[in-house]
Amino acid sequence: MEQNASRHAVVHYAEIGLKGRNRPFFERTLVRNIARRMERWGLERVERLSGRMLVYTDRPLEEPVWREALSTVFGIAHFAPAHLVKPKMENIRLVLLGRLPPGPVDSFRIRATRDDKSFPLTSPEIERELGAAVQERTGWPVRLRGADLVIGIEVLRDRAIISFGRLPGPGGLPVGASGRVGLLLSGGIDSPVAGFLALKRGCRVIPIHFHSRPFGNWMGSEARARAIVRAMQVYGMEPYLYTVPIGRQQREITVRAPVAYRVILYRRLMIRVAEALTRRERGKALFTGESLGQVASQTLESLAVVEEAARMPVLRPLIGMDKKEITALAERIGTFELSQMEGDDCCQFLMPSRVVTRPLLKEVQEAEAETEMDRLVREALARADRVNAVSLG
Ligand code: ATP
Ligand code: MG
Repeated sequence: MEQNASRHAVVHYAEIGLKGRNRPFFERTLVRNIARRMERWGLERVERLSGRMLVYTDRPLEEPVWREALSTVFGIAHFAPAHLVKPKMENIRLVLLGRLPPGPVDSFRIRATRDDKSFPLTSPEIERELGAAVQERTGWPVRLRGADLVIGIEVLRDRAIISFGRLPGPGGLPVGASGRVGLLLSGGIDSPVAGFLALKRGCRVIPIHFHSRPFGNWMGSEARARAIVRAMQVYGMEPYLYTVPIGRQQREITVRAPVAYRVILYRRLMIRVAEALTRRERGKALFTGESLGQVASQTLESLAVVEEAARMPVLRPLIGMDKKEITALAERIGTFELSQMEGDDCCQFLMPSRVVTRPLLKEVQEAEAETEMDRLVREALARADRVNAVSLG
């Protein structure tokens, strides 16, 4: 395989091709994200070409390395390790035949595109000529649909790009293209998946975690949230985490508010604090891992009453997903295991046995009036800490 290690990859992007006058902005954002991700693999530069990008590294990289590096960068539709040659048929043929993978290959096809219309052959002619050369050399059968190996030939004005097989990117929009949001990150299975989907739509995601300090296993809870933020670095999550101890505030709510409304009031407290932190970072919306009807606190009535405490939009990308689908996605993005780490859920230890499923806003507001909510929010905010999630263990 060594002969196929490559110092270049060609990147094709997804929807950002459609964004009209915003396109340069989207492209710059994608370039920056690729550069950041590729830094540790000896990135030299990322070049923007029409409709595609070329990544240059200072050393040849094997395909699995390219795959690890680029398959998590949102905005990429597909990509492939590539070789660059002069845009002449003779050079293309030589490098192509010299770099053919060892096989076995059940079938192959050449897919040629020609940006430079002054090139002497049309795309179908390039495909036929190079296809015949590869077949003669290897004996591999040609198959136009569903070929085992697709060899890409992209002829530009000053060079041609040769690639073997295309690898899928994660799609979506480059992180940073859609602005900033706060993510309420509990450490459960759901909220990391919500964060993943926010990143996928181009949001910069600022994770915010509430824990029960000084009560319960708050350290486990915080460590778990940090581990999740670390694991999500590959998707472009911010490298830090807001942690907010709300154990004392929860205890006050427990003492002063009717049992049935506790959870709603904890939630309204969290939403207010998260909104204040998000606004501080110039964020414009909150994301949560709530789905509809999953637990008592996720009825339409509860969602509405909690959301009433916020002024920013509260976005819930999991709203229409089943637990099974959410779990499968959590496994795929690598956070499921981490959510199993030990640590209290911060509402858990004060969880009442009775919860209203159809809260009335008026009653909630009356209950809240007994709790001096504004002071609780101020106190919690004063203790919010911004921790570096990447370097701390
Ligand atoms: P998750 O698996 O994300 O914890 P869940 O199904 O357990 O979700 P809840 O515990 O009811 O549901 O929480 C709903 C949402 O509220 C979470 O997805 C998260 O966005 C937010 N949330 C709950 N607890 C916390 C916390 N301790 N810190 C930050 N956000 C929280
Ligand atoms: Mg939870």
